[in-house]
Amino acid sequence: MKVSLIIAAGGRGGRFLKETQERGKFRTNKLFVSLDGKPVLRHTLDAFEGISQIKEIILAIPPGTKNWVKTHVLKEDPKVSIRMVQGGATRAESVWRALQKTSAKNSWVLIHDGARPFPPKKAILELFRKCNGAEGAILARPVVPTLKRAASRRGYILETIDRSNLFEAETPQLVHRSFLLKAYQENPKAFSATDESSLVESVGGKVRIVVHSEWNVKITTPTDFHLAEAYLAKRAASNLAMGFGRDIHRLVAGRKLYLGGIQIPFEKGSLGHSDGDALLHAVADALLGAAGLGDIGDYFPPEDIRFKNVRSERLIKKILREIAKKGWRPERVDTVTILEKPRLAPYKQKIRQKISQILKIPVESISVKAKTQEGLGPEGEGLAVTCEALATLRRIP
Ligand code: MG
Repeated sequence: MKVSLIIAAGGRGGRFLKETQERGKFRTNKLFVSLDGKPVLRHTLDAFEGISQIKEIILAIPPGTKNWVKTHVLKEDPKVSIRMVQGGATRAESVWRALQKTSAKNSWVLIHDGARPFPPKKAILELFRKCNGAEGAILARPVVPTLKRAASRRGYILETIDRSNLFEAETPQLVHRSFLLKAYQENPKAFSATDESSLVESVGGKVRIVVHSEWNVKITTPTDFHLAEAYLAKRAASNLAMGFGRDIHRLVAGRKLYLGGIQIPFEKGSLGHSDGDALLHAVADALLGAAGLGDIGDYFPPEDIRFKNVRSERLIKKILREIAKKGWRPERVDTVTILEKPRLAPYKQKIRQKISQILKIPVESISVKAKTQEGLGPEGEGLAVTCEALATLRRIP
């Protein structure tokens, strides 16, 4: 199935502008306001990323905003071709202009409001299945409030409407390209249509609904915008986890000194059942702690001979698999190594690179700090090395 995606973002966002100007805030098109660090319109585009059926994207944007959109919204290296057209006086006119730019090779057109930054991906994919045998499929939600029809704003209620088969139409809306073209050509009221489904219906096309229960908000007022901010903050918080780890190993003659997967030349090494890498052990415990998975001893009991002299790198790899099973991946790791001698400064960069390679995250996301203990305590007397680590995990999307 080949689909052209049209994002209707050509409007001025009049209601939003009016309300925000009254309050002296924003003073800009709602689609360009920064929401959690990126413009609303960028969130909208991101929601469609990775959907393989989409072969091209046409963005209908307000007049005079092309350069701004190019600089602030579009990515330098988009995976799918994105073109821009100037929006029209109405939403339907904007979609018409964009429709003319779509490739005839794509039989289906997916139209979406630029002001809906969180269309649920699962429901979008459901559209592709539901349009089978129909000329369209759209996202919809059951109507929840009780509906009244009245004679006028001041008049009496005429009836209470049975809402059992009523649905609120949302976007995206997937429609067959030829039917949408036909509607624009044959329906004299096409340019005042408020959605594409009604256009396809007007020329005899059958359109299905895909009912979902996610929050597919259309940002219309400043209150919607603030709710969207709160929604993202909550989502981000539940997508992050932190854990702490700590380890100490005695330093003795006749052992090698491993720290962060690197062998450090020194007259003593760390005593341990494995290679005694206190830094990787602290990192391992921090990772397990963040995922709520216990500690390293639960996975590699010291009495288990299989782990005798095992390189700690292998232990971490197993732990990464365990946390991935729970839906997490490491994002950042901060560490402190407390060691009187040798000086770690010459090895810090190498250790960072090694940990970055083991965890498969960028070297910038790893921090390696070294401290002496001013001659105090077991570390200060050169009897032990202690390491501490703080790990941040992010939920795998
Ligand atoms: Mg240890």
